[in-house]
Amino acid sequence: MDNTGISQVAEKPLITCTKCNLHQTRIKMVNGEGNILSPVFLIGEAPGQNEDIAGLPFQGQAGSILNKLLSQTSLNRSDFYIDNIVKCRPILIRNNKKENRQPTAEEIELCRDNIEQTIATGKPKAIVAMGNVALKYLLDDRSKSITKMRGQFIWSDKYQCYVYPVFHPAAILRQFEYYNVTANDFARLKQFIDNNYALPKPATTVYTLVDTPELLNQRFYHMFKYKLERNYRICNTISME
Ligand code: SF4
Repeated sequence: MDNTGISQVAEKPLITCTKCNLHQTRIKMVNGEGNILSPVFLIGEAPGQNEDIAGLPFQGQAGSILNKLLSQTSLNRSDFYIDNIVKCRPILIRNNKKENRQPTAEEIELCRDNIEQTIATGKPKAIVAMGNVALKYLLDDRSKSITKMRGQFIWSDKYQCYVYPVFHPAAILRQFEYYNVTANDFARLKQFIDNNYALPKPATTVYTLVDTPELLNQRFYHMFKYKLERNYRICNTISME
């Protein structure tokens, strides 16, 4: 991706924070990854277990899905700035085990300055809102739904760029039929980038999952493949906008 003549990668300075209670249970604070001056940001909701351990966004199986979506459409992860609305892992304790959960409205509010400063500094051409939490935050509208809004370029007066909602990779892990529609949404994103950040025409390419056992652990891969094959006919008949 042409990053508008910026020859050097501009890393966001690492920050630490203790503003909300999540700092008490985190292993690592997860700062953004990549070039803050990238024309396109990928923004999710919050770190999960793998990100908490690595200190980097979109690791583990959700990260593998994101990497697959990008590589399938000839996009490079390193060309994007990748971040989350909330920087520390929200957890709940169930059966003495930590589980991921969505961030609360209070946690989002307390973390707000981080992402707002990042967007103001980077001035992206588009922000890909990955999932419902990021979509509602970026459009400042809790009534918005990722299922209805995904795949649409929505102009934001506040950020002076497009907000482009797609399903969160973790949602694809739960709903396998989301993979193909999301792959096509990333194909539209590629058109947007190739069109010098002008709105693309409706996508015509239809992507389907190829066998990628190396991406996923074997147990997960076989479950994924089984469910995908079961849904294959449904996925292939999804009409593109
Ligand atoms: S989630 Fe945000 S506000 Fe809370 S401690 Fe982490 S960086 Fe600070």
